[in-house]
Amino acid sequence: MPAQRKPKLLDGNKLSEIIKSELKNKIEELKQKGVIPGLAVVLVGDNPASQIYVRNKRKTCEELGIRSFAYDLPTQTSEADLLKLVDELNRNREVHGILIQSPLPKHINEEKVLNAIDPDKDVDGFHPVNKGKLLNGQDCFVACTPAGIQELLVRYGYKIQGKHVVIVGRSNIVGKPLSALLVQKAEGADATVTVCHSHTRNLSSITKTADILVAAMGVPEFIQGRMVRDGCIVIDVGMNRIPDSTKKSGYRLVGDVHFPSVFKKAKAITPVPGGVGPMTIAMLMKNTVKSAEKSTHRL
Ligand code: NDP
Repeated sequence: MPAQRKPKLLDGNKLSEIIKSELKNKIEELKQKGVIPGLAVVLVGDNPASQIYVRNKRKTCEELGIRSFAYDLPTQTSEADLLKLVDELNRNREVHGILIQSPLPKHINEEKVLNAIDPDKDVDGFHPVNKGKLLNGQDCFVACTPAGIQELLVRYGYKIQGKHVVIVGRSNIVGKPLSALLVQKAEGADATVTVCHSHTRNLSSITKTADILVAAMGVPEFIQGRMVRDGCIVIDVGMNRIPDSTKKSGYRLVGDVHFPSVFKKAKAITPVPGGVGPMTIAMLMKNTVKSAEKSTHRL
């Protein structure tokens, strides 16, 4: 029997540290030109998961020397007040990136707020101008999770060109922008992309044809070993909290991939946590630095 080859664990923590140290150099250069990159992170309400995400983003800013502008607003903040804040941040020259943590309370129209952000400060890549540019293959802010996935694959040396990428999930923040990114006629792209969703028929027959499979569904451990072909590269975007009484927090984090069964078949796989998550934050920092660099051309 041939010896079983061990799949490669794609370490987002390690890679994001490398990217962050590269960014530190760029930030130093900007500081010498009198520009300190600034990121405004706005949190409305007290969603516990959002609080953790926001804390991590602010902590990373601090670590890199990016100026963090923190806005923690009460749940009852009105849409008008939030729009006013966005307008102020758009005009503040020390702020190069604006992030509104999702989800917003139900009484606020999220689309309206995101569309009010200056596209030049839209480091999350959610504004229609950036999404349109992404589709057209123009320079823009690419949404952080798709950008992080591409960067992970490229930096680990996996060729994307000509590969069949199957994405399970078509959200506006992961599935759709990732498909637009990887289908581009460009370096680190040129893939054949299939996007699946909850109405896709016979999902397994499609996932089994993937050279690179991306699971972005929000369904804990949905993708099983029998759904992937031998030698597939598997990217698990899912971050699902499931109850676990053995943990102090009372929950544990699992992905959308059933790790033990998929690990046996994959050529490479991202862990959860420690895969796509840290890459997403690294890309947010990268976009903020890019925005600060661009601002020097406008001085
Ligand atoms: P959404 O809920 O917005 O989208 C989920 C997508 O998965 C939808 O397109 C849905 O189909 C599809 N889907 C759900 N169930 C099935 C199924 N049984 N078969 C096929 N398709 C299905 O999720 P997000 O994209 O926002 O997030 C996905 C996951 O990624 C979550 O766990 C989230 O926490 C995580 N995430 C992680 C990030 C990171 O940095 N690591 C960043 C962003 C998200 P339909 O459209 O038909 O409803």
